[in-house]
Amino acid sequence: MRYCKYLNHEGGIDVPRYAVVEERGDGWWAVAPMGPPEEDLAARMAGHEADAGGFEPRPLAALRLLAPVTPSKILCVGRNYRDHATELGNEVPKEPLLFLKPPSSLLAPGGTIVMPRLSKRVDYEGELGIVMGKRCSRIGPEEDVRPYIRGYVIVNDVTARDIQKSDGQWTRGKGFDTFCPVGPIVSDEVEPIAGAALTVTTRLNGEVKQQGATGDFIFSIPELLRYITAAITLEAGDLIPTGTPAGVGPVQAGDRIEVTIDGLGRLENIFTAQ
Ligand code: MG
Repeated sequence: MRYCKYLNHEGGIDVPRYAVVEERGDGWWAVAPMGPPEEDLAARMAGHEADAGGFEPRPLAALRLLAPVTPSKILCVGRNYRDHATELGNEVPKEPLLFLKPPSSLLAPGGTIVMPRLSKRVDYEGELGIVMGKRCSRIGPEEDVRPYIRGYVIVNDVTARDIQKSDGQWTRGKGFDTFCPVGPIVSDEVEPIAGAALTVTTRLNGEVKQQGATGDFIFSIPELLRYITAAITLEAGDLIPTGTPAGVGPVQAGDRIEVTIDGLGRLENIFTAQ
């Protein structure tokens, strides 16, 4: 199943809604309403039955899309591709490197990334994001992590590289408003754990800058989730960006950044100066 989140104009106001997404001959369409994916199935069925009658399928391109996640936390993995770990002069980590981005940094597909005046170097980082489907804590060494995963989504872990370095702590450099574009859809129809690796490609103004395969992760998705949940309870809806391949670099105002992943579509945003 694939889904998106969008703003729907109802009764004179804009209301955030979720919709099931299907592929048609001319691209992706929102074909049916659904409730918030963080809630359990019973709540979804109860709350949104009434809307189903009036729903008209529409192409995704015609919707005002929102980031399709509402995480209690965005728990990121740093330096999870060998070639990216070393390109900035860092050692390949012996254990997963974790940091948080605040949910206030979320940005919709097509939204404008604001380059803060405080920074002289803002970078893109195209990444695969895991969307959690249910609460989990201390996942066991033999336990299958897949039942805890709702699906996967594209993330751009935008970074003020100079502030990340000068602060030591990454909170500010990674946490500015608009620094976490996510979307356009969440899908469980890709399977990077047991199935084929996914290719993450980042284009800056149309030119390929990053291309990595999730098969090249230093730490696999099950290893990451076991490591994280040994310390921190994950809630349904939490977002786990899994790290970026080599090729990160700075942007300028007016630049267009696109991240694509097989089966998850394209996340496109424009940078602007504050
Ligand atoms: Mg990153």
